[in-house]
Amino acid sequence: MSISDVDHEKRKQISVREIVDVENVANFKKTFNRHLHYTLVKDRNVATSRDYYFALAHSVKDNLVSRWIRTQQYYYEKDPKRVYYLSLEYYMGRSLQNTMINLGIQGACDEAMYQMGLNIEELEELEEDAGLGNGGLGRLAACFLDSMATLGLAAYGYGIRYEYGIFAQKIKNGEQTEEPDDWLRYGNPWEKARPEFMLPVNFYGHVIDTPEGKKWVNTQVVFAMPYDSPIPGYNNNYVNTLRLWSAKSPVEFNLKFFNDGDYIQAVIDRNLAENISRVLYPNDNFFEGKELRLKQEYFMCAATLQDIIRRYKSSKFGSRDHHRTDFDTFPDKVAIQLNDTHPSLAIPELMRVLLDVEGLPWEKAWDITVRTCAYTNHTVLPEALERWPTSLLESILPRHMQIIYHINFLHLEKVKAFFNGDLERIRRMSLIEEDGEKRVNMAHLSIVGSHAVNGVARIHSEIIKNVVFRDFYAMTPEKFQNKTNGITPRRWLLLCNPTLSDIIAEKIGDEWTVHLDQLAQLKQWAKDPGFQHSVNKVKQENKLRLAQLLEKDYGVKINPASIFDIQVKRIHEYKRQLLNCLHIITLYNRIKRDPSAPFVPRTIMIGGKAAPGYHLAKKIIKLICSVGNVVNNDPIVGDKLKVIFLENYRVTLAEQIIPAADLSEQISTAGTEASGTGNMKFMLNGALTIGTLDGANVEMAEEMGNENIFIFGMTVDEVEDLKKKGYNAYDYYNKLPEAKQCIDQIQGGFFSPSNPDEFKDITDVLLKWDRFLLLADYEAYIKAQDLVSKVYQDESKWVEMAIHNIASSGKFSSDRTIEEYAREIWGVEPTWQKLPPPNEPRDI
Ligand SMILES: *Cc1c(COP(=O)(O)O)cnc(C)c1O
Repeated sequence: MSISDVDHEKRKQISVREIVDVENVANFKKTFNRHLHYTLVKDRNVATSRDYYFALAHSVKDNLVSRWIRTQQYYYEKDPKRVYYLSLEYYMGRSLQNTMINLGIQGACDEAMYQMGLNIEELEELEEDAGLGNGGLGRLAACFLDSMATLGLAAYGYGIRYEYGIFAQKIKNGEQTEEPDDWLRYGNPWEKARPEFMLPVNFYGHVIDTPEGKKWVNTQVVFAMPYDSPIPGYNNNYVNTLRLWSAKSPVEFNLKFFNDGDYIQAVIDRNLAENISRVLYPNDNFFEGKELRLKQEYFMCAATLQDIIRRYKSSKFGSRDHHRTDFDTFPDKVAIQLNDTHPSLAIPELMRVLLDVEGLPWEKAWDITVRTCAYTNHTVLPEALERWPTSLLESILPRHMQIIYHINFLHLEKVKAFFNGDLERIRRMSLIEEDGEKRVNMAHLSIVGSHAVNGVARIHSEIIKNVVFRDFYAMTPEKFQNKTNGITPRRWLLLCNPTLSDIIAEKIGDEWTVHLDQLAQLKQWAKDPGFQHSVNKVKQENKLRLAQLLEKDYGVKINPASIFDIQVKRIHEYKRQLLNCLHIITLYNRIKRDPSAPFVPRTIMIGGKAAPGYHLAKKIIKLICSVGNVVNNDPIVGDKLKVIFLENYRVTLAEQIIPAADLSEQISTAGTEASGTGNMKFMLNGALTIGTLDGANVEMAEEMGNENIFIFGMTVDEVEDLKKKGYNAYDYYNKLPEAKQCIDQIQGGFFSPSNPDEFKDITDVLLKWDRFLLLADYEAYIKAQDLVSKVYQDESKWVEMAIHNIASSGKFSSDRTIEEYAREIWGVEPTWQKLPPPNEPRDI
């Protein structure tokens, strides 16, 4: 048997739960050949692998179409309350395999490709990631879409169709460089343009008073063209819609030049308006107040709200002419969820439409707006909170600025009454910040304009209530909620780890794919030698596969028996990749000090993108690579320790790395990581976590028990106390010789001999103004890592713990998260029902 035959046999086993019908396979081959011929205009003599990928993708998409149309028809007939998820980011990754899995046709497609002599896994590799997100926030939106479709919610994702997604990271001489992500170059087989639903969006201009009320006039218009992508539910025949807007210049754009006779210039300038949807801003947890970004945010909100209102009005259940003409039932039929404050202009925009276009009185418009909108907070880092200058808002959105001022006026009246005229409180709670440049605090606007405000893990929601938004909590405690994040078990287990999925299914069946709590049944086999052996074997195979991939890509030989110790996430000071780096250097120094001492081998992998303008994050990448260079090439070290910086971390790479991890690094300073979702992906795939009591780590530890996780370091309270007392890094530097040695080496140029000052910025931060208190957690971290090494030597104990991790991860399904949003915020009941399958001859 060839390699491809072995792979094929494996994939056949994987799809034990799917009945592969011979007729389906034959049909699928026909469809594939038809697309190769008619869509790609190729025959098999000249077709490239990419042609085959596109023929395959189109064939799979054909299987969605009837379900998609029928789902939307069903919503029109039944008119359930619609849920609108508004997000500036959707980090979708690839769609092909996910679609096949959710449709239950992976086995049939696989068999069809095999019979035609094509390797489906090679074709899958040709799909570009849809990288329309930065990190956790964007990936959460993608997981939520999957869960909303799987729960049978009438849900829509709305966002921007960026022409360029998150940049591709290249590492050159240990430094990050960015390359544009031209993901649409070969076309996107999943999207359908809907030019017939194009909508105008206004910018600039000014406001005039008329007898009929305020009018926003003399605006510049940009059109929003929708592109729809299908979101299939898992095994339920639902297909929801992700609608992304693309900016299109209006026909009469820049009429001035036409009149001046400069026709060429006028045509060229048309492109200017279309820059709005050109590129995703690559910042994670950081606010950069750029005009173009503000335009993106408003563009998305204005187009989306027009669409929402059009759909609301066109209901067949309206009172007159089968159309709804009043807005009394709007909040009963529409729920709008704001993914952070990025889409918070939806609040003043909905007000503007209700007041100026629909002619509602203020009180009624405000009541409708608040009952419709809900806001999810994703961070407490002050540098990440959006605070737009009023000058910028006044120029781009003059009417919205007026509305925000009036919202603020009425809000502060209430504050004054509630807090007996407490002036300090009024200043703190204002939507308008007056110290320095006048700005609108978008989080305050979002809280005031929403009926529900939620954090994304229990500890984060507590911090929101008691610290960040405590004044608002005091006044309106009923608004504040927690919704602990989750991940979709389809992509993050079934798709990325088919062999683990199979051994789980052998024990407990496949209900867990939709009811992840069922994994708890696995606990009974945590000590079972047979099951331990299976879990171990799967992990070892996954590690071997990753080792081969990395050897191919990096030329580093990896010891597959070593601990695969992995930290993958955006590079950020608060996530403390530097603390990980100090551990690496500590291990290196220990090996050098006593080369013959026993040592538990480790391969430490760190990956993630730094925002292009984040100087220190880029230096951290360079330090990791430089340390890797020294460690990996030191013959004394041998295969005890290897350090690899994983280039271009993204959804697709996450799917390959996470199933191979032994140890998951979740080491943010307590109180800084709102939830984390990477942590959940590792847990679900049987990696053990070393982590702080931060974000969802707290709830993970609670689910699995402290004996199955390596928790270390300061708690939120201890961090607070230390900051109050005053953190002095030198207290630790002088007390901890191993830490001192690491820092001295970095500072002295040990890892950068040709440029000894290379990492001065890093040591300066560590010793002088480290907001994230690395050295205060160093000792506890090293101790916890020593314990990791010790436990890893007891193979049976380690696997037992891994099984407890998998078995305890049920809570972290995004299905659970979405059920809570549905019941406690949106006021809709998940049906979990199946729609009847379409019955078309060509459908497989
Ligand atoms: C899940 C995920 C993240 C979020 O990881 P955290 O560790 O929670 O920050 C970021 N990027 C990608 C590609 C992911 O899949």
